[in-house]
Amino acid sequence: MAKFAVLQTFYASSSWRNFRLGLIAERGNRCERCAHIIAKPIDIIGHHKIELTPENVQDHTISLNPERVELVCSDCHNQEHRRFGYQSKKSVYLVYGPPLAGKKTLVRQQMRRGDIIVDMDRLYEAVSGLPAYDKPDGLFGNVIGLHSLLIDNIRTRLGKWGNAWVIGGYAERFKRDRLADDLGAELVFCEASRDECLNRLATDEQLRHRQDEWVKYIDKWFEQYRG
Ligand SMILES: [Zn+2]
Ligand SMILES: [Zn+2]
Repeated sequence: MAKFAVLQTFYASSSWRNFRLGLIAERGNRCERCAHIIAKPIDIIGHHKIELTPENVQDHTISLNPERVELVCSDCHNQEHRRFGYQSKKSVYLVYGPPLAGKKTLVRQQMRRGDIIVDMDRLYEAVSGLPAYDKPDGLFGNVIGLHSLLIDNIRTRLGKWGNAWVIGGYAERFKRDRLADDLGAELVFCEASRDECLNRLATDEQLRHRQDEWVKYIDKWFEQYRG
């Protein structure tokens, strides 16, 4: 059976996500190391000065303490972890949850340079040259082909990547568990209620003209979901 990734599940929790957003609102979008402006909020990383472990993550004086968290850019963050010789073992994470739950944000925050990411949306973008929300049906066969190839690479640990992140809805428990077992992946649930997803949809500029379509994606996920 697949294991649950305690640390990544913490980073997916709404307590951490709200905590991080609160820090950004308070401190602004300058990297606290190099003082550069970080243009997109998704790229602002909350770095724990005391490295989080499965043992200390539940201690909120460590994991949710403003004095122990720095907001940094990804360059500084990569440097920080290199400097301390931090080398995580090769882990595979299956990040799942409803549309607009924040799966991409989670991965962007937790990944390191040299990790591999497998995400249908990104593959679609790469192949079609179109924005992420526009996915011509005709390209599906080619995109899923690439996806399968990368999944295979991960299963066989082919290549010199650090960690692997497989992102998707994976609402159906049976399929999700089977894929996770197959890949030797740890499960990371990006939790969000249907209302939270619909709220994000309502305020998403890029999806402004695709609201109906996305309400369907969201509803479908919640219909299929088995925890
Ligand atoms: Zn920086
Ligand atoms: Zn860090």
